Amino acid sequence: MKLTTNFDLTEFKPTGAPITWVPSSQYQLFLLQTLANNLQIVRSAMPSGCTMTITDSVRLSNDFNRLISLGDHPSPTSDHYCGNVVTIDQTSPHYAQFGSTYFMSVGAADVIPNGMDLQSFFNLAITLTQNNQCKFGQIIIEQNPDSGQKWVHFATDYTAIFSDKMIAFLNRPHYEISNDGGLTYISYVPQ
Ligand SMILES: [Zn+2]
Repeated sequence: MKLTTNFDLTEFKPTGAPITWVPSSQYQLFLLQTLANNLQIVRSAMPSGCTMTITDSVRLSNDFNRLISLGDHPSPTSDHYCGNVVTIDQTSPHYAQFGSTYFMSVGAADVIPNGMDLQSFFNLAITLTQNNQCKFGQIIIEQNPDSGQKWVHFATDYTAIFSDKMIAFLNRPHYEISNDGGLTYISYVPQ
């Protein structure tokens, strides 16, 4: 199922899910359509011949434990869960803010640009966002510290889902950089 000119629903499917995968609800489809609409604006603004590869998007609740077993640092509040509910352990720093479950993830996609370098791609997405041509909840450069592989994480537009007060409560920087597999994040301020 085509979501936009250049994005198909299957590109957002969970790791290991069959090609016949479909979202678990109309709400999840709405989140992904909103994300794809904004990714398409960035895609269309890339130089001629450039493309995007989505390497990770929707995660299922049980992917949280799978990623921990791989040595990653997944957050139970990650937008990758795309509306799926994740249990928050009492030892988690998120427990005091959200309680025992997180259900407000709005969807996200990790993207590798093809035909242009990652920093230029990140800068392009930020410029388009700053110019109000597209909207994302967060745009983050992330890196796997073992492989050195970098990608850009795009979260679905928070303003499409939440009130201004809820967005303030979530308190997530618009632009960030993480070089240690999501362990720590540095806010990025566009020049
Ligand atoms: Zn991500």
